[in-house]
Amino acid sequence: MNILVINCGSSSLKYQLINMNNEEVIAKGLAEKIGLEDSIFSHTPVGKDKVVKNGKLNDHQEALNLVMKSLVDENCGVIKSLNEIDAVGHRIVHGGEFYSSSVLIDEKVIEAIEKCVELAPLHNPANILGITACQALLPGVPMVAVFDTAFHQTMPQEAYTYALPYEYYEKYKVRKYGFHGTSHKYVSGRAAHILDKPIEELKLVSCHLGNGASLTAVKYGESVDTTMGFTPLEGLAMGTRCGNIDPSIVTFLQDKENLTARDLDTIMNKKSGVLGISGVSSDFRDIENAGEGGNERAKLALAVFIYKVKTAIGSYVAAMNGVDAIIFTAGLGENSATSRKAICEGLTYLGLAIDDDKNGMRGEEIIISTPESKVKVIVIPTDEEMAIARDTKDIIGK
Ligand code: AMP
Repeated sequence: MNILVINCGSSSLKYQLINMNNEEVIAKGLAEKIGLEDSIFSHTPVGKDKVVKNGKLNDHQEALNLVMKSLVDENCGVIKSLNEIDAVGHRIVHGGEFYSSSVLIDEKVIEAIEKCVELAPLHNPANILGITACQALLPGVPMVAVFDTAFHQTMPQEAYTYALPYEYYEKYKVRKYGFHGTSHKYVSGRAAHILDKPIEELKLVSCHLGNGASLTAVKYGESVDTTMGFTPLEGLAMGTRCGNIDPSIVTFLQDKENLTARDLDTIMNKKSGVLGISGVSSDFRDIENAGEGGNERAKLALAVFIYKVKTAIGSYVAAMNGVDAIIFTAGLGENSATSRKAICEGLTYLGLAIDDDKNGMRGEEIIISTPESKVKVIVIPTDEEMAIARDTKDIIGK
């Protein structure tokens, strides 16, 4: 059974074709800068050479046409005909309060995703384009929506309610939703497997630390709190996002700098975070290098990031009244031994200790805490595409 996983961003489209009989990726690729003159398309058939094409892709439909053409191409293709695609799994950013799990796509589901556009104006429209473009190219093929927000729908009311007038929740659904749910769910499941314990008996803190970063408290298999909120801006400091700040700073800066609310939105989403503090880059590798070279603001940016992760872990230990394991995943979480060490150094009060040699290993699932450590620390490479493909397979099998 071959499942195509589609992840549409506002100007990008990522895909993977996965053979679900053995869970092997057959081909993957990426279309970037869709709508611009200098669009780039790359297609990597596993075991064959990567193909790169430059030239304008007007919209997501054109990008998907190219994906399908490449998949069946004589030279770079991996299947003989599109009939060999049995199902499509779509990553959908926002499912609002409509969905707490993945769902087979029909007209009603598309309507619900449309209703959530105002909650995710950059992402959900692109996700809908991806679905309709696929439906045109693969008529009759079952498609499944896998939501970033779904895993967090188990959060209790006290965790997702903001202390604003309640009418804003009732009128506009202003509440915490949380994101990165597919990743948090996937690594929590893997952690239970690695620890050889039922997930229903574990208290986990999942740290997805990439360009976007969020923590989730996973108690007995369910998300009970997460750092991202109404939008992916809340929570930790990130590559370019400010995370939690005093909301009064927004009006203060509007007045001082004569900025509109939209200007501030852009500043908080695109010019803040470790980029804003360091002035160096949004990429943690650049910041680590600059810090090692003596750049004080780069050092400060990293210190702020580490401090926020460490204190958020502490608050989730409180939320769950304990923790069995802390999971590190995504670009920085999987690769930066120094950041993991710095975060864990602030958690010795939990009886947590890491093994420096194990912490230095990369690219594999590994327990990096010492055998004596009361709390386990596990590095788990995330695989959102595989999680989407598995959900898709499960749902179309029902
Ligand atoms: P992601 O959003 O999961 O793709 O993660 C991207 C982030 O991970 C970028 O800021 C990268 O700089 C960071 N990252 C990737 N590899 C490393 C590494 N070896 N050390 C530090 N940061 C890394």
